[in-house]
Amino acid sequence: MGGLRITGGSGLVLEIKDLRLVFDTKPIGSSIQFISHAHLDHVYSLSLKNAVMSEETASILNTIGRRGEWTTLKYGGKLRVGDGLEISMKSSGHVLGSSQYVIDADGLRIVYTGDLNIYDTIVHRGAKPIESDILIIESTYGLPYYRFPNREKIYADIVKWILKTISSDEIPAFKVYSLGKSQEIIRIVNTYLDIPVVVSNPVARISEKYREYGISLDYIPISKVEGIETLKQGECVYVSSFREELPTSRRTRWAVATGWALRYRYPNYNASFPLSGHSDYDGLIRYILESKPKQVYTIYGYAREFSRSLRSRGINANFISEAYQTTLY
Ligand SMILES: [Zn+2]
Repeated sequence: MGGLRITGGSGLVLEIKDLRLVFDTKPIGSSIQFISHAHLDHVYSLSLKNAVMSEETASILNTIGRRGEWTTLKYGGKLRVGDGLEISMKSSGHVLGSSQYVIDADGLRIVYTGDLNIYDTIVHRGAKPIESDILIIESTYGLPYYRFPNREKIYADIVKWILKTISSDEIPAFKVYSLGKSQEIIRIVNTYLDIPVVVSNPVARISEKYREYGISLDYIPISKVEGIETLKQGECVYVSSFREELPTSRRTRWAVATGWALRYRYPNYNASFPLSGHSDYDGLIRYILESKPKQVYTIYGYAREFSRSLRSRGINANFISEAYQTTLY
């Protein structure tokens, strides 16, 4: 095999069999770019050509005005590049269209997880671990401190807070990512409460994509008269990716939902919930144990700390920083 080289950057660069594959980072020369999902930190250097992503990711990017001649894959779909390199895609359980990439070359299997959630949510199935020789795994919450409560418990806390807020004649509002978290909040309200959900226009645009891909969500965009009327009447939930003044005489109470709420306080908010689209520390460990890699590379977030913690468990691990470079084989 023509060697394997791994380089860090804002994402990951793999050089294998005379090809350069870049994941969630800017293209270099004639590289092929792979995008794991449509969150902005993963697509800011998206190229117009030579990029590979899931159909759902391309569709979300189109709806926010990004276009290109991209190659799209379905989960389970395969792409052959160069001399005997096969690349396939599986769900990473993070948001609609989020993907893990599997690179097979002459019997060697490399997996890049992208942002990863192994737990089932009310919207998505959790990611399944993929067996590999070399695993490159995200480590946003790679510290033992980050152990999220059971998701049903978080959902119950969110529902309780919504009911309490409405019973004091106030509107419960969530400031959350327009891709991923917004749709989870909408589904929680749709599932457990008989209350309408009004959403900001960016949230409506992305939620529409979820519906196109068969995930049922019931909401009213604020751009519709019915959205404004519902806010005025008051018994509803509002979801947006930014805080805004709502067209209602009722007071609004704002909440955030993020894994960071486990550690940080949000004094400018009325409530915070540790609801995350990522795996926590235990989830990352479970993924690694089940995928049985010979070598682990951690990337993003607490990559350094997480790799140390893996080594202390006897797992062969290193972290990929901006300056990282290694040549294997
Ligand atoms: Zn993400």
